Amino acid sequence: MAKKVSKKHTIKPKCAAKTASKTKAVKYVYSWGGGKADGNGTMKALLGGKGANLAEMDRIGLPVPAGYTVTTEVCTSYYDNNRNYPAGLDSQVKHGIHKIEKVMGTKFGDAKGFPLLVAVRSGARDSMPGMMDTILNLGLNDETVIALETATGNPRFAWDCYRRFIQMYGDVVMGVQKLPSEDHDPFELVIEHAKKDLLGDVDAEDTQFTADDLKEVITRMKKLVKSRTGQDFPSDPWEQLDGALSAVFGSWMNDRAIVYRRKYNIPAEWGTAVNVQAMVFGNTGEESGSGVSFTRDPATGEKVFYGEFLMNAQGEDVVAGVRTPYPVIQLGKLQPASFKELQRICKVLEKHFRDMQDFEFTIQEGKVFMLQTRNGKRTGVAAVRIACEMVKERLINWKTAVTRVPAEQLEQVLAPIFDTSAVKNAKQIASGLPAGPGAASGQIYFNAERAVEAADKGQRVLLVRVETSPEDLRGMIAAEGILTARGGVSSHAALVARQMGKICVCGAAELQINYETRKLKVGKKTYKEGDFLSIDGTAGTVYDGQVATAPSEVVQGLIKNNKAAQKSGTYKNYVQLMGWCKKVTRMSVRTNADTPEQTTQAIAFGAEGIGLTRTEHMFFEGDRIDAMREMILAENLKDREKALKKLLPFQRKDFYGIFKALKGFPATIRFLDPPLHEFLPHTKEQQLDLAHKLEIPVEKIINRVHELHEFNPMLGFRGCRLGIMYPEITRMQARAVLEAAADAEKRGIKTKPEIMIPLVGFKRELDLQVAIVHEVAAEVIKRKKLRKLNYQVGTMIEVPRGALTADEIAKTAQFFSFGTNDLTQTCLGMSRDDSGSFLGAYQESDIMAKNPFASIDQTGVGQLIEIAIAKGRATNPDIKLGICGEHGGDPESVRFCHKAGLAYVSCSPYRVPVARLAAAQAALEDEA
Ligand code: PEP
Ligand code: MG
Repeated sequence: MAKKVSKKHTIKPKCAAKTASKTKAVKYVYSWGGGKADGNGTMKALLGGKGANLAEMDRIGLPVPAGYTVTTEVCTSYYDNNRNYPAGLDSQVKHGIHKIEKVMGTKFGDAKGFPLLVAVRSGARDSMPGMMDTILNLGLNDETVIALETATGNPRFAWDCYRRFIQMYGDVVMGVQKLPSEDHDPFELVIEHAKKDLLGDVDAEDTQFTADDLKEVITRMKKLVKSRTGQDFPSDPWEQLDGALSAVFGSWMNDRAIVYRRKYNIPAEWGTAVNVQAMVFGNTGEESGSGVSFTRDPATGEKVFYGEFLMNAQGEDVVAGVRTPYPVIQLGKLQPASFKELQRICKVLEKHFRDMQDFEFTIQEGKVFMLQTRNGKRTGVAAVRIACEMVKERLINWKTAVTRVPAEQLEQVLAPIFDTSAVKNAKQIASGLPAGPGAASGQIYFNAERAVEAADKGQRVLLVRVETSPEDLRGMIAAEGILTARGGVSSHAALVARQMGKICVCGAAELQINYETRKLKVGKKTYKEGDFLSIDGTAGTVYDGQVATAPSEVVQGLIKNNKAAQKSGTYKNYVQLMGWCKKVTRMSVRTNADTPEQTTQAIAFGAEGIGLTRTEHMFFEGDRIDAMREMILAENLKDREKALKKLLPFQRKDFYGIFKALKGFPATIRFLDPPLHEFLPHTKEQQLDLAHKLEIPVEKIINRVHELHEFNPMLGFRGCRLGIMYPEITRMQARAVLEAAADAEKRGIKTKPEIMIPLVGFKRELDLQVAIVHEVAAEVIKRKKLRKLNYQVGTMIEVPRGALTADEIAKTAQFFSFGTNDLTQTCLGMSRDDSGSFLGAYQESDIMAKNPFASIDQTGVGQLIEIAIAKGRATNPDIKLGICGEHGGDPESVRFCHKAGLAYVSCSPYRVPVARLAAAQAALEDEA
């Protein structure tokens, strides 16, 4: 056993004795190696994604260095018990190390033979690239480094490993990092100074350091650690391991991991696992190397072996952007045998995991080792292509293909591209790797904070960095696109952009970025912060200024019927995927549309009707607003009816257009809803202008604005209350809808109007409004000499009383549509318009996981919906049920609606594809 192994450093259990005795028999450590793994690929919840897949690769005979996983349960327990470990962990960890020693034939802390060095890495259930910490080469100290030197006969390699270890451990575990007042990482500064002092050239490559140079670098780094922390760098490997475990578990709660979890809705309770794995070395010389690869291109989805590598390097070098890696295809020339082996592994991986894999490998002296594999993150375009092509290759069936495209990502397939003629005239200034497809123009910012500030002010922002790191995450979220000067397809920028669906060009080497002066130089031209650039993440090109965009091929193909676009692979794959969705979905998807154009678009996207037409939107166009204002200002019924008469033809025409665009699909038309003050002018100038137009004294307008002023307008004189007070408004709207339907029917256009009364909380409110509709309908049918009109009258359920008394309301209503915007507002008692001031803090404080106005609060609002469904159906088993709040386009809410048994969800036209995919996925979940 190694000399330096100490008894005193153990992972001390500090949990209460009760917990200790309870957890005694629990298995916390799962080993793998030599084809015998305790765990397997299905155990991601317990072992994390990385741990489970390492075990699985070991089981299927792939070359994986031995190791073990400390489970996610340990992480959860660590936080539940005030950062203390459960009893029994220490001995299991030690046993785990001994198992690795046995498989690898090396010893941890061995100062005589070949010392076992380990990598300590995080591994959550879902991968969180770059968000948590990693420590490599652990186990080195002043003695084991000499043992390593002797065992390998390669001093440079041994001291290089030691230098790397001190740097990583010092940063991650001991917290020696860039201070807010500093521009550079302190360890990188040590290296820079050493290059100057020892090599005489700051720009020299790291590989030029000799073993003696590295010894000097190490001495300087240890000094840095001591001066910053007041502590010596730990030399005991077990103490090092203890520190590394705590640091990795601790990184679960670091700021960037929290931001990431919030964005991707990863619950804090999941915790991370920690993987301890025997090191294999890609930095022993030119016969060794490291790489990151994908079994298909993650940006486009093309089936090519894709990725990059560096010879004489450890994995971190490939992703850190310090050295520019080479495309993996070039490995074929350098090491044909290793390349062939990797190609074989690609096949095995895809056949086994039946999905595109993203893997890390190391070549040690010509032998390939697998360090990780996971389902690769991919862009929306790639996701659709891979899903479709894997069906053709019989790797998956079409149902699986439907589940393989995250519904949210489908938006990327609809995202704009640059307009071809605008691109021809644009000035290309640089090129890099196409890392996130799509087109983005924006004002450039060189730092994440300033990018966020600018985006908050409403600017479209491009985040431009030499390379990104996890600290940049907030800026990356805020930006439209990301542009980096360094880094390849597996760089942090590329990885995160891919996952977030951000447009990204990385490694555009022509860019010279100066953070201090906040300037970017390309050739002779200099750009400052706030200037515009444009990037094409599909082609990897960078343009001067702003470049006009055009709709995506899918939009051009579907909506503009563009034949060339219809021939594109993206279009064909999209159509294929949507065809599969149609086969399996139970719920239909409607759209929220107020114009025939919006309706036509939504139908092209596959909407099966309108779930909400907000008729008030129709009052804002052209002269209509004047008639509307005249109506509001009218002092008696006669004058109000006179103004309404002017509005009638406009509304009728709009409805006719909508019926025509719908081609027989149903249209839910919601009657006037907003508080009337919203229609009146509020500035003195506008009021004078209106007074002039209507030939009335301005005081009359000012008085009416005062009269209509309410402290809580969203809880005031709005919704059906308007129609109750002014039945003539309901009458005019009913006439407009039904006459338009009658005219359309006469011209052979099938119509299914569904008149919807808003904000109903009492059955009697609905009764009064329904009576007016039926009265008007009878009159229209008679006057137009029709046999009947195929219309329905129903209500929105958008106040809690409406939901709770749904059994009564269903006696009158022929359908319910859940207005979840207002239902959320009234159920939570939170303003839908200005709760933004505290909602962010609520999410940060884990009071609510998501913005409840974006994704249904299932436990609160969801319960009201379920109650209303049950009560409504108890009265009327056939009552038609849908949702038309903003939630109708949110995949998580769509899933909820499916489970709740709604007949349809309704959302804005461009969300229709997302909702259709989410609805199909929900149906497949049921089947499973
Ligand atoms: C709702 O409240 O959810 C709804 C769809 O109506 P509006 O947003 O127009 O209030
Ligand atoms: Mg509403």
